[in-house]
Amino acid sequence: MILEKAIFIKLKNLKFSDQQLFDAAVSGFNPSRHTCRICGAVGRFSEIHSYQRDMISTNGSVRVDTRLSIRRFQCGSCGHTHALLPDVLIPYGSYSLRFILTVLLCYLKRSSTVTNLCRYWGIAVSTLYDWIHLFIIQYNSWCSVLDRILWVCSSAVSSICDFPAFPSEFLLRFGFSFLRGRSATPSGSIRLPDRRLRPHPT
Ligand SMILES: [Zn+2]
Repeated sequence: MILEKAIFIKLKNLKFSDQQLFDAAVSGFNPSRHTCRICGAVGRFSEIHSYQRDMISTNGSVRVDTRLSIRRFQCGSCGHTHALLPDVLIPYGSYSLRFILTVLLCYLKRSSTVTNLCRYWGIAVSTLYDWIHLFIIQYNSWCSVLDRILWVCSSAVSSICDFPAFPSEFLLRFGFSFLRGRSATPSGSIRLPDRRLRPHPT
């Protein structure tokens, strides 16, 4: 996998859609400058083929489902193949980072029940709580002890979106994308807390 930086400014200041960011990052990718994460060879990538995947994003407060063509490259040194994924996407999932953060902010506004919120965005309630718990764990892994949170809050979402190098800096530090789910995470590296510990509004 090749994770290409697409978000160069603060996430909250983005004026481009995820589709536009994806297109810009993919079209600007230069394989001659990239290093294979498997063998360390530089500039040995050859484009082989592409595959289709879905991206679920937002346009304002509306869900937008898009079909993307993901470019694949093969390392001429070790033979491994790598998909080119801009950092607006979370590997092994369809939801864009912005989509998840938008849903979390809507959840925090408490303007509707969790059931109605999830119905509006077309997600399962369990998915929402998976995101909340992932956010808490990964946010706390990244922030200092004094800034740690017990539950997702708008100030935490805002501060993480305000971080200039987010989300690429998180990826560099931890080796996986922010809000990447447990099913796609190497076993043992992230454990979700028991959700019974936390009451939630309905
Ligand atoms: Zn290689």
